[in-house]
Amino acid sequence: MSWEGIEGHDQIANRFSSAEAAGRIAGSYLFIGQEGIGKATFAKSLTMALACEGSENNLTACHKCNSCIQALAGTHPDIDIVQKPTERTTIPLESLIGSPDQRLRAGLCWRLLLRPQLASRKFAILLDADHLSEEAANCLLKTLEEPPPGAVVILVGTTLERQLPTIRSRCQVIRFSPLSDDIIKHVIQTEQQQNGQDLTDSTLDEIARIAQGSLSKARLFLDEELTSFRTKLFKMLSEKPLRGVDLTRATIGIVEAVGKEPSLRRTRLRLVLDLSIDFFRTKLHVIHGIPCPADAILESTIHAWSASPEEITQCLEYSLDARQGVDRNANLGILVDAWTANLERA
Ligand SMILES: [Zn+2]
Repeated sequence: MSWEGIEGHDQIANRFSSAEAAGRIAGSYLFIGQEGIGKATFAKSLTMALACEGSENNLTACHKCNSCIQALAGTHPDIDIVQKPTERTTIPLESLIGSPDQRLRAGLCWRLLLRPQLASRKFAILLDADHLSEEAANCLLKTLEEPPPGAVVILVGTTLERQLPTIRSRCQVIRFSPLSDDIIKHVIQTEQQQNGQDLTDSTLDEIARIAQGSLSKARLFLDEELTSFRTKLFKMLSEKPLRGVDLTRATIGIVEAVGKEPSLRRTRLRLVLDLSIDFFRTKLHVIHGIPCPADAILESTIHAWSASPEEITQCLEYSLDARQGVDRNANLGILVDAWTANLERA
């Protein structure tokens, strides 16, 4: 049985369990790891277990006491969860220190100073730590350096590089690994079976391949629209000559199909680029004789494509650059145009 039903992170749970038993839970943590592997769920379960009224220092939440019930409902008065609103590019300053007319009389940093109501200490979880502006990060520094007695603050981000050095140096860093293919397949199959669906082994293999260790990515590809796009994308990438205009049209099409919300569109484009990176990287492995398991669609399109190692490396680099552009909030239309034009030239 995995800790709190969270697959793949039992070792980290054991570390926290020992720390709790020894009375050595730190004041500030920074959880790091790719998206969709359970970091936020882990942070919520951890605070619930630490706050549980029935727990005996072994990090086991009873799920029955008043504290656990409120934690599960997301209404616990001592567990504060702040995240970036979807329409914003950064975490608003006011969610940390209150709006200008309420400065230091509202917000996460202020609430942490209040006396706990249910638990013996206060907890705060800051999701989307990648999106802390320098100004917001500065407001957090004092809280992270000297949390109120007993308080536990958990920041959740994707990579260390995306955190400001001032934040990094004040937190104990906990690294979460990508999930194994077996865990991805097991979780997805279980979820599907609960909905009365049963996926074939080859579909599960394909989904695990695309997911690259991320459960949220795996769930996205349960969508028929995206799996058929993947097949189409690989065919276009393996065509000689590559038709840049068509690739642009197909990419923009799948990106816009998700709706008008900019963050959703960005996520979609990131997926397209991740798929392309996987395609080029696998081709490079194959050409150098490195064994590289691939699902049927990837394998057949890769073999259909004849390209030199230099060409493949260039395509891979262009795609990695475009991927970074998405993370840097570049204009998506311009970015896709530049990417396909580069691939055409490679
Ligand atoms: Zn409890």
